Amino acid sequence: MVTPALRRTGFVCDDSYFAHRTDEGLGPWVAPGPAFESAAGKRRIRDLAVATGLMTQLVPLAPSPLTREDCLRFHTAEYLDLLAEMSGGEGGNAGEETWFGPGSFEIALLSAGGTWTAIRSVLTGEVDNAYALVRPPGHHAERHWGRGYCLLANIALAVMKARAELGVERVAVVDWDVHHGNGTEQAFHEDPDVLTVSVHQDMLYPRDSGFLTDRGAGRGVGANLNVPLPAGSGRGAYLSAFERVVEPAVRRFRPELIVVASGFDAGALDPLGRMMLSAGAYGELADRLRVLAEELCGGRLAMSHEGGYSELHAPFCGLRVLEALSGSPTGVEDPFDYVSRYGGQALTAHQEAAVDEAVRVHGLAAS
Ligand code: ZN
Repeated sequence: MVTPALRRTGFVCDDSYFAHRTDEGLGPWVAPGPAFESAAGKRRIRDLAVATGLMTQLVPLAPSPLTREDCLRFHTAEYLDLLAEMSGGEGGNAGEETWFGPGSFEIALLSAGGTWTAIRSVLTGEVDNAYALVRPPGHHAERHWGRGYCLLANIALAVMKARAELGVERVAVVDWDVHHGNGTEQAFHEDPDVLTVSVHQDMLYPRDSGFLTDRGAGRGVGANLNVPLPAGSGRGAYLSAFERVVEPAVRRFRPELIVVASGFDAGALDPLGRMMLSAGAYGELADRLRVLAEELCGGRLAMSHEGGYSELHAPFCGLRVLEALSGSPTGVEDPFDYVSRYGGQALTAHQEAAVDEAVRVHGLAAS
């Protein structure tokens, strides 16, 4: 039985997101198979929201595509030209581990546009908060090339458009994907008015970024926070990192809007990450950010989908997050909740040491 929603939560999705192809070649030694980033897991998130009845409590939002001009706020003209050319042909690799098929540039414009639609709808008050279930993801895409399945920097582009067109000035981006949000970091590296906070598995991907000591550059020093956590971190480590680093940093920054790069690859069953979050823990983190947004910026919270490669577990993570945003529990049991009872879910000494170090480096009060 779905509880009526307490809040108007927008939900962005589009069938074309599932048409984006990512199959990759692995060389001559093994038969090609589907890439880790595939349509199935994302489609299941939407399908689960429909099957549980939760979708009836959400506000459907149709994405509007970004334009080339919107993309030029961050990406180079040469990169956009290359994407358009390859997309008009057979597709190809946009850079590093970013394979795509025909038509994917247009899908990527609609994906970034979906993130924009979520942010715009929150800022205009059409909804209280929103989740954009977009594909391809965006947080690894850099100025001049695609990386890690990401073609366009969805969140960075949408935030830049919102600042240019809707008068919002201070935006905090919290990235809970298991990988470092390097593209978002690059977009705002010297910008003091966009706070970027990435909580990720230490030294995962990209392998040369996400270090605790990289705090931004120029006027942006102090507005980029990396919180690398040791592999194996579970609910205890994430709650500690949120309580002691993420939330105090966002509070100190005083944003007008909070945007979340929402990857479910810190889930315990994810094939690419080595963290241990349960769907319930993702729901708790979402609830904490919702409360924080209510405290700081009138509840204005928009989430944009990133990674999450367990096609069976990620949908339940998505369900718990959508329940938290809307305040509409479905009562549907998570068949994978056993992971919340795995050993090592509580904060360990070495994880606490990593959080202590982040508190110190980022100049946050010890607690
Ligand atoms: Zn990821």
